[in-house]
Amino acid sequence: MNRMPFSKMTTRREMLRSSGTVAGGALLARIFPASLLAGAARPMAYPQQAGAAPAADPLAATRAQMGATPLETVKLSDTLTMLSGPGGNVVVLNGPDGKVVVDSFVQTAWAKLKQSLDGMGNAPIRVLIDTHWHFDHTDNNSNFRAAGAQILAHENTKKRLSEPHDLLGMHFAPSPASALPTQTFTTATHRMQANGENLLLGYIPPAHTDTDIYIQYPRANVMHLGDTFFNGMYPFIDAGTGGSINGMIVAANRSLGMVDGSTKIVPGHGPLGDRAALTRYRDVLVTVRDRVQREKSAGKKVDEVVAAKPTAEFDATWGTGFMQPDVFVAIVYNTL
Ligand SMILES: [Zn+2]
Repeated sequence: MNRMPFSKMTTRREMLRSSGTVAGGALLARIFPASLLAGAARPMAYPQQAGAAPAADPLAATRAQMGATPLETVKLSDTLTMLSGPGGNVVVLNGPDGKVVVDSFVQTAWAKLKQSLDGMGNAPIRVLIDTHWHFDHTDNNSNFRAAGAQILAHENTKKRLSEPHDLLGMHFAPSPASALPTQTFTTATHRMQANGENLLLGYIPPAHTDTDIYIQYPRANVMHLGDTFFNGMYPFIDAGTGGSINGMIVAANRSLGMVDGSTKIVPGHGPLGDRAALTRYRDVLVTVRDRVQREKSAGKKVDEVVAAKPTAEFDATWGTGFMQPDVFVAIVYNTL
């Protein structure tokens, strides 16, 4: 199995760190009490040069940085390809019925994404599926529309994209109509046939956000879990749109019940995974949740729990990705 080289993870981490000013006040104000901000934790502790000016537009800066990440390709089956790098992991189902694409990278990666899709053959881009509302997964919705695709998502994704949000220091205005899903579902599952696959899309009760869906490809035995699965790193959990640590654990357990030892599991971020990787991830989430819950139930304040470093044994591996350990612990605490 092809795995994304570790160097790629490092690149991504450095990219996120270099976007230091992205770690602005909005997310922090939303999920962190003042005591924590003033105290022990380093919220999204990106190193920042002393005296460095904040980016004028953190969203533009993040788009530029993510867009500069190389695009890597992993073949999943005769019809399925995973593309990684400039945002969440993209999966392309290609064949005579047209291309069915899950997630879309950031706007600044559109040219290389389009080039990659075009390189797979002349079939039109038929459908883009959004796993959830976050911009590193939906940022090219309007470009896909302009390329002729319909956009399919859960109704909550359309609702969240229609609202303004402040997240990780970035401001998101309501999406224009041209960037909204053209077809949504509110049922637990939604089926779609294309290129010999009988895709199963399923709503995930609030976990990473309240918009998450999974996409299952039964013939190829592939599953895309969106950002309910960060492979090998602490996950971001968006409490502002319904996410919680318990929701993440429920989602991971549910996903484990839908896969077997041969299933290729695409995470929202990180390298291609499998059942063993998803199990390790679930186990870390459960261990951290239980430790934080115990302390919170005993009356400990969030900064005390963060200072006790309940994730210490995992940090060398799991804390070097998207989320700093202190921030992850604070999110876990605040969503319990
Ligand atoms: Zn996300």
